[in-house]
Amino acid sequence: MAHSPTNSEIGLENNRRSLPPAYESPAGSRDWSFYPRNGMHCHFQKSPKSKIRMFNKANEAKAKSWLFRGKGKRSNLSDVELKTWKSAFQSGESACESRTLIYQKYGDICDVVGWGSSATILLSRKPQEWHPHIHSFYAIKVFRRLPGVSETAYRRPIDAEFSISSPLRHRNIIRTFELIEIDSGVFGEILEYCSSGDLHTLVAARGQLENEEADCFLKQLMRGINYIHEMGIAHRDLKPENLLLTSNGCLKISDFGTAECFRLAWESDVHMTTTRRGSRPYVSPEQYLSQYFDPRLADIWATAVTYIAMRTGRILWMVATTEDENFRDYIADRQIGRGYFLIEDTCSVASRCVIYSMLNADYTGRPLSNEVLHSQWLQEIEVCTDAENGQV
Ligand SMILES: [Zn+2]
Repeated sequence: MAHSPTNSEIGLENNRRSLPPAYESPAGSRDWSFYPRNGMHCHFQKSPKSKIRMFNKANEAKAKSWLFRGKGKRSNLSDVELKTWKSAFQSGESACESRTLIYQKYGDICDVVGWGSSATILLSRKPQEWHPHIHSFYAIKVFRRLPGVSETAYRRPIDAEFSISSPLRHRNIIRTFELIEIDSGVFGEILEYCSSGDLHTLVAARGQLENEEADCFLKQLMRGINYIHEMGIAHRDLKPENLLLTSNGCLKISDFGTAECFRLAWESDVHMTTTRRGSRPYVSPEQYLSQYFDPRLADIWATAVTYIAMRTGRILWMVATTEDENFRDYIADRQIGRGYFLIEDTCSVASRCVIYSMLNADYTGRPLSNEVLHSQWLQEIEVCTDAENGQV
């Protein structure tokens, strides 16, 4: 196996260039294993996060301040209310018909597993009918409703996200099961649950991923992207935080909150877009410069930035404009046909020309997802058996 230089070696060999920022390490490390063997590999989490933990004190405090109480201020959800709400789910006895329905279909709420700017993610577990000690797990994305927001304004983005994500069926896309009223005027999506967290947490904990592991994740990601692009959907916020992992290394694209439809089923032309979307380090340069651009090619750019993050543990640049020193260095190198040191030193020879084409500052020169998948590099990447067999 070729030697992959460490970040410190990269820094020593390339002091003419400043290194872009590294991912910050999370508070806890992860018990993730990767085994390459005879051209094949497997990756898995040794001890998946406990799925039976009830609300703990820290989570409860966060839940209390965040949860779904749209009508009032954060503090309006008292301890008593929170307990009542949890017990309503857990007992299945509730004045709210929809909560009883959620309990019957998806089991009781056992944890709060995520907080975002607009939603809280709860975890539910339901015993299998054929074996009471084996559970199915679901993520419930409860959309936060701010005080004073009208029902129309609250529902519009939720309905848009659900209409885009609910028809998608692919092993590398998080399945969206249902949109349901959780509490009076507050809605939640029932989603497939991934027990091993997101790719950002894994990369930050490990520093950088081995070639084979990063390649496996990339091919799975490209398959998911190719599928949604064929369906006329661009994700528009691809980044490691939105790529979830099962305990055996199957990658799934999540969060379609900023996704957009660029082509309806009966159309053949792609609608160009005008709106800049996504997280700054992953936003393609044309979104700062062009009036119209192809949203599919913005996804391709973000995918290449994500791949380099997997290989190096670093974000290529904070923003893809000439204000950013790292981006200026990259463009200067590419304009004279020179390789960019971080890519040259960490990516295999086979991958470099594909990565450079995906990171073409001129979006019209970038490959589409099926062209990336048909490149020799991607064709030769082995996706591990467990990931190939991921549940649809
Ligand atoms: Zn794999």
